[in-house]
Amino acid sequence: MELNELNKIAGLFKNTEPMPLLFIGHGNPMNAITQNEFTVKWNKIGKSLPKPNAVICISAHWETKGTFVTAMEKPRTIHDFYGFPLELFEVEYKAPGSPYLAGETKKLVAGTSVELDKNWGLDHGCWSVVMHLFPEADIPVVELSLDYTKSPQWHYELAKELSLLRNKGILIIGSGNIVHNLRMVNWKNKDGFDWALEANKKFKKLILNDEYSELIDYKNLGVEAQLAIPTPEHFLPLLYILGLKEKNENISIFNDKTELGSISMTSLMIDRK
Ligand code: ZN
Repeated sequence: MELNELNKIAGLFKNTEPMPLLFIGHGNPMNAITQNEFTVKWNKIGKSLPKPNAVICISAHWETKGTFVTAMEKPRTIHDFYGFPLELFEVEYKAPGSPYLAGETKKLVAGTSVELDKNWGLDHGCWSVVMHLFPEADIPVVELSLDYTKSPQWHYELAKELSLLRNKGILIIGSGNIVHNLRMVNWKNKDGFDWALEANKKFKKLILNDEYSELIDYKNLGVEAQLAIPTPEHFLPLLYILGLKEKNENISIFNDKTELGSISMTSLMIDRK
């Protein structure tokens, strides 16, 4: 797309160097109110980034038929979990929304009709992470939903259409977990089951070797991958971030740990070398 075209898009936001991309393994919702090695790292990353004009978060926890973008001025904090301490239900992350960015995102995406949403807000896949990245809650945050009727390839291609926003200071975050099997969670298992460690290792290798077609076709990656991805929603946010990576960019892996037997916190940042 020409520069003129780019300037028309997200015109309220100033041009910047391309913002980095983040895929964050969010894990247990309690991470929202816990200081641990994962959340300390999120906080450090937030401090190290150029301050974004706004954030677009693709969270595992917003699945819809069709694609939606949150378009309210003040997104509510959604407590979309059960059986956790009251303290977690009391968290309010009061970052503003950006109806403007939502509108620009809708205009930018040609491959599907992106609908403006006024009902959702920020689910815990988004706020449990972003509140550590940007504790001041002073950066507008919008969410883009995952259309559960679409294929992994479709999500990977859709991501590419968001690319221009990176040059407008928009930080795009995918929030999920590359190994995520809640049925097999074992609270006594501090590390990971063998299959979880194996799947995590396999995914990392493919990520670092730019072998994305194999990741998109994860259903054919063997039994460990099938156990790691029993349902796609926690894996798809990774495909958005990989879809947005440019050739000249570097991937760094962090929080590379598997816990509770069947959840991997493995995360990545992508930026210029
Ligand atoms: Zn989750």
